[in-house]
Amino acid sequence: MKFSPLYSGSSGNCSVVSSGNTHILVDAGMTGKAITSALSDVDIDPCSISAIVVTHEHSDHIKGVGVMSRKYDIPVYANEGTWKAMAPLVGNISMKNIRTFVTGQNFYIGSFDLTPFRISHDAAEPVGFKFFEKGSKLVYMTDTGCVSEALRETASDADLLFLESNHDVDMLKNGSYPYQLKMRILSKKGHLSNDAAGDLLAKLFLSGMRRVILAHLSHENNTESVAYNTVRGILNKNGIPEKDFFLKVAHRDRVTGVFEI
Ligand SMILES: [Zn+2]
Ligand SMILES: [Zn+2]
Repeated sequence: MKFSPLYSGSSGNCSVVSSGNTHILVDAGMTGKAITSALSDVDIDPCSISAIVVTHEHSDHIKGVGVMSRKYDIPVYANEGTWKAMAPLVGNISMKNIRTFVTGQNFYIGSFDLTPFRISHDAAEPVGFKFFEKGSKLVYMTDTGCVSEALRETASDADLLFLESNHDVDMLKNGSYPYQLKMRILSKKGHLSNDAAGDLLAKLFLSGMRRVILAHLSHENNTESVAYNTVRGILNKNGIPEKDFFLKVAHRDRVTGVFEI
């Protein structure tokens, strides 16, 4: 399978997971125009998109869901909680393109076996996704304020983990966000910090996980180099050499690359 983060950050999220003729968008949190242009950068015709799978109803994940579905006749998959919260926000979606999955139960799109799993976030019924295809596993885990043992277990044997590394705690605390918003982000149902991502990865290394892309960076409270250096620093402190751990940071505003899994 191939995985291409198109946009990742607090201002918009959209990635594409592909194999053969199957192309699945994970969220569509940018305008239809921006998504279409990023798809052309990775040589994917928007008419060939098989599905959009939605993690949760926050606008940075669904901004382009309605437009993409209507324009290219794409089925949209979400759980019941997300559908209820998202329906008034995405405009009219044709009945045949409204698909529902159950959190914790796997389902199939093309050659992919997907399992949506619960994450810890202040939305109706937020999930991450595990993608299985031909023995390879991608785990997509962003927008989670904390990582429970069950989530750690889910990520432990990923061939590639797309993991939130949202903010630097000091930048957030000293930054200009209103107090309430700071508290929301720092809470267990908010967003994962660089430190928390690093600590998790040091643990996952012990179970054999070796490849990660840091994702969903905050525009205000993080930078690519701060996220990278913080996580790399934690890995170094845990005796994990650079050559043994593939670490990348997803760009907020453009395609990060095409990763073979
Ligand atoms: Zn988000
Ligand atoms: Zn969110």
